[in-house]
Amino acid sequence: VEKNPAQPEFHQAVKEVLESLKPIVDANEEKYRKEALLERLVEPERQILFRVPWVDDNGQVQVNKGFRVQFNSAIGPYKGGIRLHPSVNIGIIKFLGFEQIFKNSLTGLPIGGGKGGSDFDPKGKSDREIMAFCQSFMTELCKHIGADTDVPAGDIGTGAREIGYMFGQYKRIRNVYEGVLTGKGLTYGGSLARTEATGYGLLYLTEELLKVNGDDIAGKTVVVSGAGNVATYAIEKAQQLGAKVVTCSDSTGWVYDPDGIDVAALKEIKEVKRARLTEYKNYRPNSEYHEGRGVWSVKCDVALPCATQNELHIEDAKQLVANGCKMVAEGANMPTTMEATEYLQENGVIFAPGKAANAGGVATSALEMSQNSERLSWTFEEVDAKLQGIMVNICHNMVDAAERYGHKGNYVVGANIAGFEKVANAMLAQGIC
Ligand code: NDP
Repeated sequence: VEKNPAQPEFHQAVKEVLESLKPIVDANEEKYRKEALLERLVEPERQILFRVPWVDDNGQVQVNKGFRVQFNSAIGPYKGGIRLHPSVNIGIIKFLGFEQIFKNSLTGLPIGGGKGGSDFDPKGKSDREIMAFCQSFMTELCKHIGADTDVPAGDIGTGAREIGYMFGQYKRIRNVYEGVLTGKGLTYGGSLARTEATGYGLLYLTEELLKVNGDDIAGKTVVVSGAGNVATYAIEKAQQLGAKVVTCSDSTGWVYDPDGIDVAALKEIKEVKRARLTEYKNYRPNSEYHEGRGVWSVKCDVALPCATQNELHIEDAKQLVANGCKMVAEGANMPTTMEATEYLQENGVIFAPGKAANAGGVATSALEMSQNSERLSWTFEEVDAKLQGIMVNICHNMVDAAERYGHKGNYVVGANIAGFEKVANAMLAQGIC
Protein backbone atom coordinates (compact mmCIF):
# COMPACT_ATOMS: atom_id res chain seq x y z
CA VAL A 1 0.00 0.00 0.00
CA GLU A 2 2.85 2.43 0.81
CA LYS A 3 4.57 1.60 -2.48
CA ASN A 4 1.41 2.28 -4.50
CA PRO A 5 -0.53 5.00 -2.64
CA ALA A 6 -4.06 6.00 -3.65
CA GLN A 7 -4.68 2.94 -5.82
CA PRO A 8 -7.57 1.23 -3.96
CA GLU A 9 -8.79 -0.84 -6.93
CA PHE A 10 -5.27 -2.16 -7.53
CA HIS A 11 -4.90 -3.05 -3.85
CA GLN A 12 -8.28 -4.80 -3.95
CA ALA A 13 -7.36 -6.89 -7.00
CA VAL A 14 -3.93 -7.85 -5.59
CA LYS A 15 -5.40 -8.75 -2.19
CA GLU A 16 -8.05 -10.99 -3.75
CA VAL A 17 -5.53 -12.78 -5.95
CA LEU A 18 -2.79 -13.20 -3.34
CA GLU A 19 -5.22 -14.45 -0.69
CA SER A 20 -6.58 -17.09 -3.02
CA LEU A 21 -3.09 -18.15 -4.14
CA LYS A 22 -2.20 -19.10 -0.56
CA PRO A 23 -2.56 -22.88 -1.10
CA ILE A 24 -0.15 -22.93 -4.06
CA VAL A 25 2.21 -20.37 -2.52
CA ASP A 26 2.42 -22.41 0.70
CA ALA A 27 3.25 -25.51 -1.32
CA ASN A 28 6.13 -23.71 -3.13
CA GLU A 29 7.10 -21.19 -0.48
CA GLU A 30 10.88 -21.50 -0.58
CA LYS A 31 11.18 -21.41 -4.36
CA TYR A 32 8.88 -18.41 -4.76
CA ARG A 33 10.52 -16.45 -1.91
CA LYS A 34 14.04 -17.04 -3.23
CA GLU A 35 13.06 -15.73 -6.65
CA ALA A 36 10.84 -12.91 -5.25
CA LEU A 37 8.17 -14.25 -7.55
CA LEU A 38 5.18 -12.51 -5.95
CA GLU A 39 7.06 -9.21 -5.59
CA ARG A 40 7.88 -9.33 -9.29
CA LEU A 41 4.34 -10.36 -10.20
CA VAL A 42 2.72 -7.28 -8.60
CA GLU A 43 5.16 -4.82 -10.21
CA PRO A 44 4.36 -3.96 -13.85
CA GLU A 45 7.19 -4.54 -16.30
CA ARG A 46 6.56 -1.09 -17.75
CA GLN A 47 4.13 1.83 -17.21
CA ILE A 48 3.73 4.50 -19.85
CA LEU A 49 2.00 7.77 -18.89
CA PHE A 50 1.53 10.42 -21.52
CA ARG A 51 -0.18 13.66 -22.52
CA VAL A 52 -3.05 13.50 -25.03
CA PRO A 53 -3.78 16.95 -26.47
CA TRP A 54 -6.60 17.36 -29.01
CA VAL A 55 -8.80 20.13 -30.39
CA ASP A 56 -12.57 20.15 -29.73
CA ASP A 57 -15.30 21.39 -32.07
CA ASN A 58 -15.07 24.90 -30.62
CA GLY A 59 -11.40 25.13 -31.55
CA GLN A 60 -10.42 24.76 -27.88
CA VAL A 61 -7.41 22.60 -26.98
CA GLN A 62 -8.25 19.82 -24.51
CA VAL A 63 -5.70 17.78 -22.59
CA ASN A 64 -6.24 14.25 -21.30
CA LYS A 65 -4.05 11.70 -19.55
CA GLY A 66 -3.01 8.57 -21.49
CA PHE A 67 -1.96 5.29 -19.86
CA ARG A 68 -0.55 1.93 -20.95
CA VAL A 69 0.56 -0.56 -18.33
CA GLN A 70 2.56 -3.48 -19.75
CA PHE A 71 2.21 -5.74 -16.78
CA ASN A 72 3.56 -9.17 -17.60
CA SER A 73 4.95 -10.73 -20.79
CA ALA A 74 6.02 -14.12 -19.39
CA ILE A 75 3.71 -16.12 -21.66
CA GLY A 76 3.19 -13.80 -24.64
CA PRO A 77 2.94 -10.21 -25.90
CA TYR A 78 1.01 -7.85 -23.62
CA LYS A 79 -2.70 -7.97 -24.37
CA GLY A 80 -5.58 -6.01 -22.85
CA GLY A 81 -8.10 -3.32 -23.65
CA ILE A 82 -8.14 0.46 -23.72
CA ARG A 83 -10.67 2.08 -21.38
CA LEU A 84 -11.97 5.56 -22.14
CA HIS A 85 -13.89 6.87 -19.13
CA PRO A 86 -13.52 9.95 -16.89
CA SER A 87 -12.91 7.69 -13.86
CA VAL A 88 -9.70 6.23 -15.38
CA ASN A 89 -6.48 6.69 -13.40
CA ILE A 90 -3.29 4.67 -13.00
CA GLY A 91 -4.73 2.58 -10.14
CA ILE A 92 -7.70 1.47 -12.27
CA ILE A 93 -5.44 0.59 -15.21
CA LYS A 94 -3.09 -1.35 -12.91
CA PHE A 95 -5.96 -3.33 -11.38
CA LEU A 96 -7.24 -4.21 -14.84
CA GLY A 97 -3.75 -5.07 -16.13
CA PHE A 98 -3.04 -7.26 -13.12
CA GLU A 99 -6.30 -9.21 -13.52
CA GLN A 100 -5.56 -9.54 -17.23
CA ILE A 101 -2.37 -11.57 -16.56
CA PHE A 102 -4.35 -14.44 -15.03
CA LYS A 103 -7.32 -14.14 -17.37
CA ASN A 104 -5.11 -14.35 -20.43
CA SER A 105 -3.26 -17.31 -19.00
CA LEU A 106 -6.57 -19.07 -18.29
CA THR A 107 -7.54 -18.91 -21.97
CA GLY A 108 -4.68 -21.31 -22.70
CA LEU A 109 -3.43 -18.94 -25.44
CA PRO A 110 0.01 -17.25 -25.56
CA ILE A 111 -0.87 -13.75 -24.37
CA GLY A 112 0.63 -11.66 -21.57
CA GLY A 113 -1.19 -9.06 -19.47
CA GLY A 114 -1.59 -5.34 -20.10
CA LYS A 115 -4.18 -2.57 -20.06
CA GLY A 116 -4.46 1.05 -21.11
CA GLY A 117 -6.80 3.96 -21.35
CA SER A 118 -7.50 7.58 -20.75
CA ASP A 119 -9.67 9.85 -18.60
CA PHE A 120 -11.24 11.09 -21.85
CA ASP A 121 -15.07 10.99 -21.76
CA PRO A 122 -16.47 9.87 -25.14
CA LYS A 123 -20.05 10.71 -24.10
CA GLY A 124 -21.57 13.60 -26.06
CA LYS A 125 -18.50 14.02 -28.31
CA SER A 126 -18.85 14.37 -32.07
CA ASP A 127 -17.29 11.81 -34.42
CA ARG A 128 -14.64 14.35 -35.34
CA GLU A 129 -13.74 14.92 -31.67
CA ILE A 130 -13.52 11.15 -31.08
CA MET A 131 -11.21 10.88 -34.09
CA ALA A 132 -9.04 13.79 -32.94
CA PHE A 133 -8.65 12.20 -29.52
CA CYS A 134 -7.94 8.70 -30.89
CA GLN A 135 -5.32 10.02 -33.32
CA SER A 136 -3.54 11.98 -30.61
CA PHE A 137 -3.69 9.00 -28.23
CA MET A 138 -2.19 6.68 -30.85
CA THR A 139 0.48 9.20 -31.89
CA GLU A 140 2.21 8.48 -28.59
CA LEU A 141 1.03 4.91 -27.97
CA CYS A 142 2.33 3.68 -31.34
CA LYS A 143 5.90 4.03 -30.08
CA HIS A 144 5.31 1.35 -27.48
CA ILE A 145 3.10 -1.30 -29.12
CA GLY A 146 3.29 -3.74 -32.06
CA ALA A 147 1.87 -7.07 -33.24
CA ASP A 148 4.61 -9.01 -31.37
CA THR A 149 4.98 -6.57 -28.45
CA ASP A 150 1.65 -5.31 -27.17
CA VAL A 151 -1.77 -5.63 -28.81
CA PRO A 152 -4.49 -3.41 -27.27
CA ALA A 153 -8.25 -3.95 -27.75
CA GLY A 154 -11.57 -2.37 -26.75
CA ASP A 155 -13.03 -1.89 -23.29
CA ILE A 156 -15.46 0.60 -21.72
CA GLY A 157 -15.84 3.52 -24.14
CA THR A 158 -13.69 1.90 -26.84
CA GLY A 159 -15.65 0.10 -29.54
CA ALA A 160 -15.19 -0.54 -33.26
CA ARG A 161 -15.27 3.18 -34.15
CA GLU A 162 -12.43 4.09 -31.76
CA ILE A 163 -10.36 1.02 -32.71
CA GLY A 164 -10.75 2.03 -36.39
CA TYR A 165 -9.43 5.55 -35.79
CA MET A 166 -6.54 4.23 -33.70
CA PHE A 167 -5.62 1.58 -36.28
CA GLY A 168 -5.62 4.19 -39.06
CA GLN A 169 -3.27 6.42 -37.11
CA TYR A 170 -0.92 3.54 -36.19
CA LYS A 171 -0.62 2.51 -39.84
CA ARG A 172 -0.05 6.09 -40.93
CA ILE A 173 2.78 6.74 -38.49
CA ARG A 174 4.46 3.34 -38.36
CA ASN A 175 3.86 2.38 -42.00
CA VAL A 176 3.16 -1.26 -41.14
CA TYR A 177 -0.04 -3.13 -41.75
CA GLU A 178 -0.17 -5.57 -38.89
CA GLY A 179 -2.54 -6.92 -36.26
CA VAL A 180 -1.57 -4.33 -33.67
CA LEU A 181 -5.10 -3.89 -32.34
CA THR A 182 -7.98 -6.34 -32.01
CA GLY A 183 -11.68 -5.62 -32.27
CA LYS A 184 -11.03 -4.21 -35.74
CA GLY A 185 -13.71 -3.85 -38.42
CA LEU A 186 -14.27 -6.89 -40.62
CA THR A 187 -12.97 -5.13 -43.75
CA TYR A 188 -9.51 -4.55 -42.26
CA GLY A 189 -8.52 -7.60 -40.26
CA GLY A 190 -11.24 -7.94 -37.65
CA SER A 191 -12.53 -11.34 -36.59
CA LEU A 192 -16.09 -12.51 -36.94
CA ALA A 193 -17.63 -13.16 -33.51
CA ARG A 194 -15.25 -10.78 -31.69
CA THR A 195 -18.10 -8.31 -31.04
CA GLU A 196 -20.21 -11.03 -29.47
CA ALA A 197 -17.36 -12.91 -27.79
CA THR A 198 -17.31 -11.61 -24.20
CA GLY A 199 -21.08 -11.84 -23.74
CA TYR A 200 -21.39 -15.17 -25.54
CA GLY A 201 -18.38 -16.55 -23.68
CA LEU A 202 -19.91 -15.52 -20.37
CA LEU A 203 -22.96 -17.61 -21.16
CA TYR A 204 -20.95 -20.60 -22.40
CA LEU A 205 -19.14 -20.65 -19.07
CA THR A 206 -22.33 -20.06 -17.09
CA GLU A 207 -24.02 -22.94 -18.93
CA GLU A 208 -21.10 -25.29 -18.30
CA LEU A 209 -20.68 -24.37 -14.64
CA LEU A 210 -24.38 -24.87 -14.00
CA LYS A 211 -24.02 -28.30 -15.63
CA VAL A 212 -21.06 -29.13 -13.36
CA ASN A 213 -23.38 -28.27 -10.46
CA GLY A 214 -26.20 -30.45 -11.81
CA ASP A 215 -28.31 -27.59 -13.18
CA ASP A 216 -29.23 -26.03 -16.53
CA ILE A 217 -29.45 -22.47 -17.92
CA ALA A 218 -32.66 -23.16 -19.90
CA GLY A 219 -35.74 -21.79 -18.18
CA LYS A 220 -33.78 -19.58 -15.77
CA THR A 221 -34.67 -15.95 -15.00
CA VAL A 222 -31.57 -13.79 -15.42
CA VAL A 223 -30.77 -10.23 -14.37
CA VAL A 224 -28.05 -8.33 -16.24
CA SER A 225 -26.50 -4.95 -15.44
CA GLY A 226 -24.98 -2.73 -18.12
CA ALA A 227 -26.16 -2.09 -21.66
CA GLY A 228 -22.86 -2.02 -23.50
CA ASN A 229 -20.96 -4.57 -25.52
CA VAL A 230 -20.73 -7.29 -22.86
CA ALA A 231 -24.28 -6.89 -21.54
CA THR A 232 -25.93 -6.84 -24.98
CA TYR A 233 -24.39 -10.08 -26.20
CA ALA A 234 -24.78 -11.79 -22.83
CA ILE A 235 -28.50 -11.06 -23.04
CA GLU A 236 -28.64 -12.29 -26.64
CA LYS A 237 -26.91 -15.60 -25.89
CA ALA A 238 -28.83 -16.18 -22.62
CA GLN A 239 -32.06 -15.91 -24.56
CA GLN A 240 -30.76 -18.22 -27.31
CA LEU A 241 -30.02 -20.76 -24.58
CA GLY A 242 -33.60 -20.59 -23.33
CA ALA A 243 -33.23 -18.24 -20.35
CA LYS A 244 -35.30 -15.09 -19.81
CA VAL A 245 -33.34 -11.88 -19.15
CA VAL A 246 -35.50 -9.26 -17.46
CA THR A 247 -33.14 -6.31 -16.78
CA CYS A 248 -30.35 -4.15 -18.16
CA SER A 249 -28.93 -0.80 -17.00
CA ASP A 250 -26.65 2.13 -17.73
CA SER A 251 -25.00 4.63 -15.44
CA THR A 252 -28.22 6.65 -15.02
CA GLY A 253 -30.96 4.05 -14.69
CA TRP A 254 -32.26 0.56 -15.35
CA VAL A 255 -34.93 -1.27 -17.27
CA TYR A 256 -37.23 -4.08 -16.10
CA ASP A 257 -38.95 -5.94 -18.90
CA PRO A 258 -41.13 -8.78 -17.56
CA ASP A 259 -41.43 -10.30 -21.06
CA GLY A 260 -37.66 -10.50 -21.58
CA ILE A 261 -35.33 -7.76 -22.89
CA ASP A 262 -35.80 -7.02 -26.59
CA VAL A 263 -32.22 -7.28 -27.88
CA ALA A 264 -32.99 -5.72 -31.26
CA ALA A 265 -34.41 -2.64 -29.51
CA LEU A 266 -31.42 -2.50 -27.16
CA LYS A 267 -28.95 -2.65 -30.06
CA GLU A 268 -30.81 0.07 -31.92
CA ILE A 269 -30.83 2.37 -28.88
CA LYS A 270 -27.21 1.81 -27.79
CA GLU A 271 -25.32 0.88 -30.96
CA VAL A 272 -27.16 2.82 -33.68
CA LYS A 273 -28.64 5.87 -31.92
CA ARG A 274 -26.03 5.97 -29.12
CA ALA A 275 -28.95 7.03 -26.90
CA ARG A 276 -29.97 6.36 -23.27
CA LEU A 277 -32.11 3.54 -21.86
CA THR A 278 -34.99 5.97 -21.20
CA GLU A 279 -35.83 5.28 -24.87
CA TYR A 280 -36.47 1.57 -24.25
CA LYS A 281 -40.06 2.20 -23.16
CA ASN A 282 -40.84 3.56 -26.63
CA TYR A 283 -40.14 0.09 -28.00
CA ARG A 284 -41.68 -1.94 -25.16
CA PRO A 285 -44.63 -0.21 -23.45
CA ASN A 286 -44.92 -3.06 -20.89
CA SER A 287 -41.44 -2.38 -19.50
CA GLU A 288 -40.45 -0.13 -16.59
CA TYR A 289 -37.63 2.41 -16.41
CA HIS A 290 -36.17 3.42 -13.04
CA GLU A 291 -33.60 6.08 -12.25
CA GLY A 292 -30.53 5.02 -10.23
CA ARG A 293 -29.41 1.46 -9.56
CA GLY A 294 -31.64 -1.50 -8.72
CA VAL A 295 -31.22 -4.53 -10.98
CA TRP A 296 -30.06 -6.69 -8.06
CA SER A 297 -33.39 -6.19 -6.29
CA VAL A 298 -35.19 -8.15 -9.03
CA LYS A 299 -35.90 -11.82 -8.28
CA CYS A 300 -33.71 -14.08 -10.39
CA ASP A 301 -31.94 -17.44 -10.65
CA VAL A 302 -28.78 -16.06 -12.26
CA ALA A 303 -27.20 -12.58 -11.96
CA LEU A 304 -24.70 -11.31 -14.53
CA PRO A 305 -22.99 -8.00 -13.62
CA CYS A 306 -21.74 -6.61 -16.96
CA ALA A 307 -21.17 -2.87 -16.37
CA THR A 308 -18.14 -1.90 -14.27
CA GLN A 309 -16.03 -2.55 -11.15
CA ASN A 310 -17.60 -2.61 -7.68
CA GLU A 311 -21.19 -2.38 -8.87
CA LEU A 312 -22.51 -5.30 -6.77
CA HIS A 313 -22.27 -4.49 -3.05
CA ILE A 314 -22.91 -6.46 0.11
CA GLU A 315 -26.54 -5.23 0.38
CA ASP A 316 -27.10 -6.38 -3.21
CA ALA A 317 -25.59 -9.79 -2.41
CA LYS A 318 -27.95 -10.13 0.56
CA GLN A 319 -30.92 -9.26 -1.60
CA LEU A 320 -29.89 -11.76 -4.29
CA VAL A 321 -29.52 -14.54 -1.72
CA ALA A 322 -32.86 -13.64 -0.10
CA ASN A 323 -34.49 -13.84 -3.53
CA GLY A 324 -33.11 -17.34 -4.17
CA CYS A 325 -30.37 -16.48 -6.70
CA LYS A 326 -28.34 -19.62 -7.55
CA MET A 327 -25.44 -18.21 -9.53
CA VAL A 328 -23.50 -14.99 -10.12
CA ALA A 329 -21.10 -14.83 -13.09
CA GLU A 330 -19.06 -11.67 -13.66
CA GLY A 331 -19.19 -10.26 -17.20
CA ALA A 332 -17.45 -7.07 -16.08
CA ASN A 333 -14.04 -6.88 -14.40
CA MET A 334 -14.27 -7.05 -10.58
CA PRO A 335 -17.93 -5.93 -10.45
CA THR A 336 -18.51 -7.67 -7.11
CA THR A 337 -16.91 -6.24 -3.97
CA MET A 338 -14.86 -8.69 -1.88
CA GLU A 339 -17.40 -8.56 0.94
CA ALA A 340 -20.23 -9.33 -1.46
CA THR A 341 -18.25 -12.17 -3.09
CA GLU A 342 -17.62 -13.80 0.28
CA TYR A 343 -21.27 -13.45 1.29
CA LEU A 344 -22.45 -15.07 -1.93
CA GLN A 345 -19.99 -17.95 -1.59
CA GLU A 346 -20.85 -18.51 2.08
CA ASN A 347 -24.53 -18.69 1.17
CA GLY A 348 -24.20 -21.39 -1.47
CA VAL A 349 -24.33 -19.18 -4.56
CA ILE A 350 -22.18 -20.49 -7.43
CA PHE A 351 -19.76 -17.62 -8.05
CA ALA A 352 -17.79 -17.37 -11.33
CA PRO A 353 -15.13 -14.61 -11.18
CA GLY A 354 -14.63 -12.26 -14.13
CA LYS A 355 -11.16 -13.43 -15.02
CA ALA A 356 -12.68 -16.77 -16.01
CA ALA A 357 -16.21 -15.75 -16.93
CA ASN A 358 -15.38 -12.82 -19.21
CA ALA A 359 -12.22 -14.28 -20.77
CA GLY A 360 -14.06 -14.99 -24.03
CA GLY A 361 -13.35 -11.48 -25.30
CA VAL A 362 -9.61 -11.65 -24.98
CA ALA A 363 -9.56 -15.28 -26.15
CA THR A 364 -11.28 -14.25 -29.37
CA SER A 365 -8.90 -11.31 -29.65
CA ALA A 366 -6.07 -13.83 -29.59
CA LEU A 367 -7.89 -15.74 -32.34
CA GLU A 368 -8.02 -12.45 -34.29
CA MET A 369 -4.23 -12.19 -33.84
CA SER A 370 -3.81 -15.71 -35.26
CA GLN A 371 -5.97 -14.87 -38.28
CA ASN A 372 -3.99 -11.66 -38.86
CA SER A 373 -0.69 -13.57 -38.70
CA GLU A 374 -1.78 -16.09 -41.29
CA ARG A 375 -3.64 -13.37 -43.27
CA LEU A 376 -6.80 -15.45 -43.35
CA SER A 377 -10.31 -15.02 -41.93
CA TRP A 378 -12.21 -17.81 -40.29
CA THR A 379 -16.00 -18.18 -40.47
CA PHE A 380 -18.28 -17.07 -37.64
CA GLU A 381 -19.08 -20.70 -36.85
CA GLU A 382 -15.39 -21.62 -36.67
CA VAL A 383 -14.54 -18.79 -34.27
CA ASP A 384 -17.68 -19.33 -32.19
CA ALA A 385 -16.93 -23.06 -31.88
CA LYS A 386 -13.35 -22.32 -30.75
CA LEU A 387 -14.68 -19.76 -28.24
CA GLN A 388 -17.10 -22.30 -26.84
CA GLY A 389 -14.32 -24.89 -26.51
CA ILE A 390 -12.09 -22.36 -24.73
CA MET A 391 -14.81 -21.37 -22.24
CA VAL A 392 -15.64 -24.99 -21.44
CA ASN A 393 -11.93 -25.63 -20.88
CA ILE A 394 -11.55 -22.60 -18.63
CA CYS A 395 -14.53 -23.81 -16.63
CA HIS A 396 -13.04 -27.26 -16.04
CA ASN A 397 -9.52 -25.95 -15.34
CA MET A 398 -10.97 -23.63 -12.70
CA VAL A 399 -13.15 -26.34 -11.16
CA ASP A 400 -10.22 -28.82 -11.10
CA ALA A 401 -7.68 -26.35 -9.66
CA ALA A 402 -10.06 -25.47 -6.81
CA GLU A 403 -10.47 -29.16 -6.02
CA ARG A 404 -6.75 -29.98 -6.37
CA TYR A 405 -5.86 -27.37 -3.77
CA GLY A 406 -8.60 -28.36 -1.31
CA HIS A 407 -11.13 -25.60 -2.06
CA LYS A 408 -13.79 -27.52 -4.00
CA GLY A 409 -16.49 -25.17 -5.28
CA ASN A 410 -14.47 -21.99 -4.63
CA TYR A 411 -14.00 -20.78 -8.19
CA VAL A 412 -12.19 -17.60 -7.17
CA VAL A 413 -9.40 -19.79 -5.78
CA GLY A 414 -9.70 -22.14 -8.77
CA ALA A 415 -9.45 -19.40 -11.43
CA ASN A 416 -6.60 -17.58 -9.74
CA ILE A 417 -4.53 -20.71 -9.21
CA ALA A 418 -5.19 -22.09 -12.70
CA GLY A 419 -4.19 -18.73 -14.24
CA PHE A 420 -1.20 -18.23 -11.97
CA GLU A 421 0.44 -21.65 -12.37
CA LYS A 422 1.45 -21.20 -15.99
CA VAL A 423 2.67 -17.61 -15.55
CA ALA A 424 4.66 -18.53 -12.44
CA ASN A 425 6.34 -21.46 -14.16
CA ALA A 426 7.20 -19.32 -17.19
CA MET A 427 8.64 -16.58 -14.96
CA LEU A 428 10.76 -19.06 -13.03
CA ALA A 429 12.05 -20.62 -16.25
CA GLN A 430 13.01 -17.23 -17.70
CA GLY A 431 15.19 -16.23 -14.73
CA ILE A 432 15.25 -12.94 -12.85
CA CYS A 433 13.82 -10.40 -15.29
P1 NDP B 1 -19.26 -0.54 -22.77
O1 NDP B 1 -18.67 0.81 -22.74
O2 NDP B 1 -19.73 -1.10 -24.05
O3 NDP B 1 -20.51 -0.60 -21.75
C1 NDP B 1 -20.36 -0.34 -20.40
C2 NDP B 1 -21.73 -0.33 -19.75
O4 NDP B 1 -21.56 -0.19 -18.34
C3 NDP B 1 -22.61 0.82 -20.19
O5 NDP B 1 -23.95 0.43 -20.10
C4 NDP B 1 -22.28 1.89 -19.16
O6 NDP B 1 -23.30 2.84 -18.98
C5 NDP B 1 -22.08 1.06 -17.91
N1 NDP B 1 -21.11 1.73 -17.04
C6 NDP B 1 -19.83 2.06 -17.33
N2 NDP B 1 -19.23 2.68 -16.30
C7 NDP B 1 -20.15 2.75 -15.35
C8 NDP B 1 -20.15 3.27 -14.05
N3 NDP B 1 -19.06 3.86 -13.53
N4 NDP B 1 -21.28 3.14 -13.32
C9 NDP B 1 -22.38 2.54 -13.84
N5 NDP B 1 -22.44 2.03 -15.07
C10 NDP B 1 -21.35 2.13 -15.82
O7 NDP B 1 -18.19 -1.50 -22.08
P2 NDP B 1 -18.07 -3.08 -22.15
O8 NDP B 1 -19.41 -3.69 -22.24
O9 NDP B 1 -17.05 -3.40 -23.19
O10 NDP B 1 -17.41 -3.40 -20.75
C11 NDP B 1 -18.18 -3.66 -19.57
C12 NDP B 1 -17.32 -4.38 -18.54
O11 NDP B 1 -16.84 -5.62 -19.09
C13 NDP B 1 -16.05 -3.63 -18.09
O12 NDP B 1 -15.79 -3.97 -16.74
C14 NDP B 1 -14.98 -4.21 -18.98
O13 NDP B 1 -13.68 -4.07 -18.42
C15 NDP B 1 -15.41 -5.66 -19.00
N6 NDP B 1 -14.90 -6.46 -20.11
C16 NDP B 1 -15.12 -6.10 -21.41
C17 NDP B 1 -14.65 -6.89 -22.44
C18 NDP B 1 -14.97 -6.59 -23.87
O14 NDP B 1 -14.63 -7.42 -24.72
N7 NDP B 1 -15.61 -5.50 -24.20
C19 NDP B 1 -13.82 -8.09 -22.17
C20 NDP B 1 -13.73 -8.43 -20.78
C21 NDP B 1 -14.22 -7.62 -19.80
P3 NDP B 1 -23.15 4.31 -19.62
O15 NDP B 1 -23.35 4.13 -21.09
O16 NDP B 1 -24.22 5.11 -18.95
O17 NDP B 1 -21.77 4.77 -19.26
